[in-house]
Amino acid sequence: MKPTILKSSLRLAAAAALAVAQVASWAADGYVTTNEAKLDAIFSQAGFAAADKIDIRFNSQTSIIDASLTSIDSFAEWDKMAGLAVNFDAPVVNMFFVDKVRWCGDPGTNIVGCADTPGNLMALDSSWAAHASLGGNLLGHELAHNLGLGHVLPNNGSNLMNPTLSTSFALTAAQITTILSSALVQSDAQGKFITIQPIAVLAAAPVPEPSTWAMLLLGGVLLAGATRGRRSGLGQA
Ligand SMILES: [Zn+2]
Repeated sequence: MKPTILKSSLRLAAAAALAVAQVASWAADGYVTTNEAKLDAIFSQAGFAAADKIDIRFNSQTSIIDASLTSIDSFAEWDKMAGLAVNFDAPVVNMFFVDKVRWCGDPGTNIVGCADTPGNLMALDSSWAAHASLGGNLLGHELAHNLGLGHVLPNNGSNLMNPTLSTSFALTAAQITTILSSALVQSDAQGKFITIQPIAVLAAAPVPEPSTWAMLLLGGVLLAGATRGRRSGLGQA
């Protein structure tokens, strides 16, 4: 069953935000940290009935190369990113790892992640996604937005959906009911699961390994030789 997704949805969640000093860095590559064990813990926590515990599964990492999207600064960039989703029309979450998120409905300087609510698209600050104690909760928070949950306002105890990121990740019974009603939650013989496609956003194509360079140079020399051969052949005719 396909999830109901509005490609240009403006029903964006406000970001999970932390007051941090962001160092300006516009063209750094995004990088993937999946944190699958923490996501499994969040979406199979005690409030989930045994048959409802959700296994989080990751597809193999892929990447896109677009220097304009290593920092998400506007709706136009968000929409462009949406257009590059690998599995937009499938019940698969497209998890983009960027360098910076500077827009989520509104511009901001302390945004660490942004997600369609509901939807199957999110962008994460790679360095925060890799944070030792907060990274898994960031992924879980944005995934819960994709599954239909809004923020708990104001911050309420240890809830995952507090707008400020913490090491806590509790979900209420009502929130779990909403999560389980999402079309992103699928079932097979092993039980319930959600599939995530991790996508690294790169500023430029990766530099080939030295051995690859050598082969490319060799290929270039051979090609040049062939071209000269053809030219001389033409001249002789
Ligand atoms: Zn949020």
